[in-house]
Parts: sequence; C-alpha cells; structure tokens
Amino acid sequence: MATMARQCKARTKNGRRCEGFAVTGSLYCLTHDPNRAEARAARNRKGGRKHAVPKLLDEWTRKIESIGDLLDLLNLIIADTVAQENTAARSRALLAAVETGLRCITQNELENRVAAIEAVLKNREVKR
Ligand SMILES: [Zn+2]
Repeated sequence: MATMARQCKARTKNGRRCEGFAVTGSLYCLTHDPNRAEARAARNRKGGRKHAVPKLLDEWTRKIESIGDLLDLLNLIIADTVAQENTAARSRALLAAVETGLRCITQNELENRVAAIEAVLKNREVKR
C-alpha cells in the first residue's frame, strides 16, 4: 500500500498548523523541514530574495513512490510557477496544478478511508 501523506507539524506565522504535506521521512513539509534550512538559506542568499526566481525543482532528487511524493513535487512546481512572470501560460499551468492537486488529495483521502475500513474489517475477523 502507498505511504499516506501526513500534514506538516509546523505552525505558520499566524499560529495555525501548516497545511503542507510532510516530506517522506520527515515530520515537516519542504518549507519547514529543518534538514533543508541550509539549502533554503543558500537559495535566498543568491541574488536577493525579491528578484530571484526560485528553481526549487532543481533540488528534486527523489523517486515518486507515494501520493505524498507527488504532492511534494506538485508543491515545488507550483512554487516555481508562482514566481514566474504573470502570463496566461502561467495561469493555465497553475490551474492544471490545482486540478492535479485536487486529484492527488482526493485519491489520498480515499486511500486513507479504505485503510480505515480495512482495519475495522480485519479487527472483526479476528474476533469471530
Ligand atoms: Zn509546513
């Protein structure tokens, strides 16, 4: 069964729980993972944050093995796309990303529900 995507443990500036998905092997999303702080700092130093177009995808090295991995990749694509010039092509790309994200999240939720149902059924079989 695929690894289920978990919510990032970090709190945002307004005190709410981060809605990002935890990176595989971490409790935090790409933005909040303390193991990635050095890479983030290095990226921010290059050319100043305001004018630098982030190329987060350059950091992607993982294989896609779960919905969590897909969502991580999608979040990088969205972050890189948002940083581009505002064009019709960018808008189309972001809409496609939203659609893809919706499918990933729906699929993840369905997998979680099936797993919960399977757990209940397995428990019943043991009791018989
Ligand atoms: Zn986060």
